[in-house]
Amino acid sequence: MSRFGDVPEAPKDPILGISEMFNADAHAEKMNLGVGAYRDDNGKPVVLNCVREAEKRIAGNFNMEYLPTNGSKDFVQQSLKLAFGENSAHVADGSIAAVQSLSGTGSCRLMAEFQRRFMPGCKVYITVPTWSNHHNIWRDAGCEQDTFRYYKESTRGLDFEGMVEDIQNAPDGSMFLLHACAHNPTGVDPSAEQWREISKVMKAKNHFAFFDMAYQGFASGDCERDAQAIRIFVEDGHKVALAQSFAKNMGLYGQRIGTVSVMCKDKEEANRVESQLKVIARAMYSNPPMHGALIASTILGDAALKAQWYEEVKGMADRIIKMRTLLRKNLEESGSTLPWQHVTDQIGMFCFSGMTGEQVDKLRTDHHIYMTRNGRISMAGVTSSNVGRLAAAMHEVTK
Ligand code: PMP
Repeated sequence: MSRFGDVPEAPKDPILGISEMFNADAHAEKMNLGVGAYRDDNGKPVVLNCVREAEKRIAGNFNMEYLPTNGSKDFVQQSLKLAFGENSAHVADGSIAAVQSLSGTGSCRLMAEFQRRFMPGCKVYITVPTWSNHHNIWRDAGCEQDTFRYYKESTRGLDFEGMVEDIQNAPDGSMFLLHACAHNPTGVDPSAEQWREISKVMKAKNHFAFFDMAYQGFASGDCERDAQAIRIFVEDGHKVALAQSFAKNMGLYGQRIGTVSVMCKDKEEANRVESQLKVIARAMYSNPPMHGALIASTILGDAALKAQWYEEVKGMADRIIKMRTLLRKNLEESGSTLPWQHVTDQIGMFCFSGMTGEQVDKLRTDHHIYMTRNGRISMAGVTSSNVGRLAAAMHEVTK
């Protein structure tokens, strides 16, 4: 009798499981459009030039000691300025509690644990649909979750009325998990006007906005513009919280670099909140990684390198936007009579295609094209040379 004889096999992660199947496929023209990792137009992973330059500058200039539990102060300050604005009074007056954490996922996890400990009875409301890991993170933290309407199947766009109605109907003081930009998986974001309205309704209900910003710069190509939702809320007087990730926009996926921050009444309150975030981090992983934090703070702290980074982020966003145009064009020219406008209307790394689970299965078995069963296509894996084959296959399975 083995000690672990009763441990059941865990279900595969809906996103990472796709990569496992992809890796096991020997077909020469297989396509992995599952995981959201940027590829160049040859389908190769990218290390940004500004990252390579930052690496050169820091090489040999740091030791291998631990960072403090709250990470690199310099990195965290730069990170906050990127999100809240270079001249944000809230960043300047120290009223934002913030710690470096393990990319976007780790930032959400710390926030969820903070919520469980210090916001008893406060439910987190999550968009339908959302990045599947949001559900896991808040489940494991032991927080109560609920959902709110976000996406409208019939228009493949925002269900603005439904969203506002659900926000209005939630108990006062609830927490709403909002995607700051490039909503995953739908690629559907509210307009600036709609964000203003959402902010107003949430303010009236004293709701707490927690923004997950995993794609700053990836939506529009402009890091400032992609932060507009947060800036609108802050301008309206909300005290928001925020998870930032540098996985996508700096291509630091495996470095696990991010920040979690909580706006507070003043510096004294921020110190108390930050001390609790440190206690949580201490028991979970003790301290965050140094190398990626040094890369990010070197880039963000140097005007020329930062300008180069802005251009490189824009380059990635523009390539994705170009692939959306090409995919739609190829689908329309393939003879498909279905509407494909949403492919170009949606924004960010993903296209929520509208394909069914069965159609996605057929793409995999008949065409060696891999994506999640909700029909989400990672546009970052689409290239000038595979877009034709993708469109033809999509037409074939949606006829
Ligand atoms: N939030 C959302 C909405 C995401 O799409 C992602 C990346 N897939 C993350 C958070 C976190 O990613 P990471 O932990 O790699 O920064």
